[in-house]
Amino acid sequence: MQRIEGKTVAEAVLATLKQEIAAMGAQGCTPGLAVVLVGEDPASQVYVGSKVKACAELGMYSQKWAMPAETTQEELIDLIKQLNADDRIHGILVQSPPPAHIDEEAVVRAIDPRKDVDGFHPENVAKLVLEDETGFVPCTPLGCMELLKAAGICTQGAHAVVIGRSMIVGKPMANLLLSRKANATVTIAHSRTKDLPAVCRTADILIAAVGRPEMVTADYVKEGAVVIDVGINRIEDPTRPRGYRIVGDVDFESVAPKCKAITPVPGGVGPMTIAMLMSNTVKACKQLAAQ
Ligand code: NDP
Repeated sequence: MQRIEGKTVAEAVLATLKQEIAAMGAQGCTPGLAVVLVGEDPASQVYVGSKVKACAELGMYSQKWAMPAETTQEELIDLIKQLNADDRIHGILVQSPPPAHIDEEAVVRAIDPRKDVDGFHPENVAKLVLEDETGFVPCTPLGCMELLKAAGICTQGAHAVVIGRSMIVGKPMANLLLSRKANATVTIAHSRTKDLPAVCRTADILIAAVGRPEMVTADYVKEGAVVIDVGINRIEDPTRPRGYRIVGDVDFESVAPKCKAITPVPGGVGPMTIAMLMSNTVKACKQLAAQ
């Protein structure tokens, strides 16, 4: 069984980007990312903090906008318009989820698609489906594809089952696997899928993006399958100082022995997400500079 170490792969991606950013900086073009957070959600604060820190470590320019929970949608969209017009900023990210009174879709649509490094704008969703590589692909599924590549997994002709159909993970993941570059045969499963374990057992590559702690057990997995665990779930654990630990959507202990390769949680897909955000921002900078 091969353990796919996302942390190591992400470090390699970041090291390459750092060199590229230094070279771009020498030519007077430093990639810049604006991260916008509305409200005080503690998990979102951690995510935003780590994104800003990653920018600093790579020598990228960044702006962090922490807005109060009562910020109106209009105020948020005004800020996005300002960032759309700011030449120092090449990537704009609004941390999800915003407070309930804000329409997330309207906010995403306000972002200049050329700066939409999360890949959530309808124009970028269309480009993914059209296989137009000038678009931006959501960071988590993009990171999963990089992990498969780094682990030497051949997707050509493989049967891939993706559990989950969200716009952030499941759907873009399925599109990437289906693309003419990857050429997998793709099945998308969700909460209404009949006999999910049987469907999953047909997978050569199984991607779990469900949000249910350790739901995928050994009886979901064919001998010799490759398993990518996207899940990040907190479960109570009184033996830990924080009182909880993070587990994936896959029951690693029972599943790993059956696998050809598997990602751990933590240290699998998670670190790749941030590396891909940095990569998308560098790409946005290059594309905007070339216009
Ligand atoms: P969503 O809640 O948006 O989507 C979950 C999907 O799983 C839905 O399509 C849902 O089906 C399906 N589902 C839920 N329960 C079942 C079930 N019992 N059987 C089959 N399918 C089921 O979650 P996300 O896509 O945003 O995230 C998925 C997981 O990935 C979460 O654990 C999240 O924390 C993690 N994540 C990790 C990231 C990373 O950086 N590693 C980044 C983003 C997310 P239906 O559509 O029918 O409701």
